[in-house]
Amino acid sequence: MVPREAASLPYDWLRRSLQTLHQAHWHRQVQAVEGTGPVIQRQGQPLLNFASNDYLGLAGDSRLAEAAIAAIQQFGTGATGSRLLSGHRSLHRELECAIAAFKQTEDALVFSSGYLANIGTLTALVGSRDLILADRYNHSSLKNGAVLSGATVLEYAHGDLADLETQLTDRRQTYRRCLIVTDGVFGMDGDLCPLPGILALANRFGAMVMIDEAHSTGVLGKTGAGCAEHFGCQGQPLIQMGTLSKALASLGGYVAGSADLIDFLRNRAPSWIYTTGLSPADTAAAIAALSVLQQEPQRLTQLHDRAQFLRQQLDQLLSSLPGDTLTRLPSDSAIVCLQVPDAETVVQLGQQLQALGCFVSAVRPPTVPVSRLRMSAIATHQESHMTQLVQALGQALAQTLSRR
Ligand SMILES: *Cc1c(COP(=O)(O)O)cnc(C)c1O
Repeated sequence: MVPREAASLPYDWLRRSLQTLHQAHWHRQVQAVEGTGPVIQRQGQPLLNFASNDYLGLAGDSRLAEAAIAAIQQFGTGATGSRLLSGHRSLHRELECAIAAFKQTEDALVFSSGYLANIGTLTALVGSRDLILADRYNHSSLKNGAVLSGATVLEYAHGDLADLETQLTDRRQTYRRCLIVTDGVFGMDGDLCPLPGILALANRFGAMVMIDEAHSTGVLGKTGAGCAEHFGCQGQPLIQMGTLSKALASLGGYVAGSADLIDFLRNRAPSWIYTTGLSPADTAAAIAALSVLQQEPQRLTQLHDRAQFLRQQLDQLLSSLPGDTLTRLPSDSAIVCLQVPDAETVVQLGQQLQALGCFVSAVRPPTVPVSRLRMSAIATHQESHMTQLVQALGQALAQTLSRR
């Protein structure tokens, strides 16, 4: 018998590891908020919300809620099984057809989350004889999917077509298949991938391209279909992945592309085959979100107006500050980031902003290489919300910088 104290020894490293996280100001924890949209509540206090991915302001829309309730009443609360065995419902197909029409692709497939869509797609499409070329700033789900696939993974410098071309020239021919993988809008930066240039290189080197439209679906393009629409690249051979959980205010992920691609994924993507189908409520809410977006395209222009207004206000504030303590990162999306020199300062700023009634994400390593405040616009924000945020930031900065 192992004595009682000794039995806990194999787990002691957990506490030491947590201590290291605390010392580096990298430790994170959750906090509960209530409500959705531009103004939410925390412990009963109103809080201006710049921390959500609910870009179109649909998470609190009664049409989505009603569709979800009706679906629960008709189909029940759970899909009760994997789609292939027993969990497939007419709603699932309805959503997939709606996504394919929205994306102008032959077909689409919905997964239980965007994370699972990326893992399933990457592991299905490439293996040990293949090459993945990935933007260095890609989302965690793309990075982990790439590793799981068993392919050789090479990263190219963020958004750098010249580096991508060099790596294709040096390495492409040694591998069977090649897949270039990139975020459409980079979620912790707000900038866009150079999609037309990537597609041209892919065409020259015989490579597939997969784009993650998590932060661009319902944000970019005339109808909100994403980067592919924004750049006029619809109709080109392209694997378009996205999530239902951000602008579409539901839960789940999707892949849209050729009929062959989708049929192949239904047969070969383990994170689709061996998991329960999307819940009826989530499925119906996503269908309703697509229909609202189609009926109210002005939400897209509103969203961009608000993001643009926020960028202008922030730039004004920054230009009034001494030196270059903070840098605003380039952004063409609903995401606006201010780079902050260190993790301790960004956490402090985040807390001060909260005390001043503004909810902003303080993002630190290892999520990003350099700490930043991440702010996102919602179509239903008012300009006065943005003005309040920038005023609060001015106050918080004055306090923080005077202490340094
Ligand atoms: C949020 C996100 C995902 C994951 O989507 P979920 O549906 O939340 O699992 C994938 N890729 C990117 C770029 C994301 O921002």
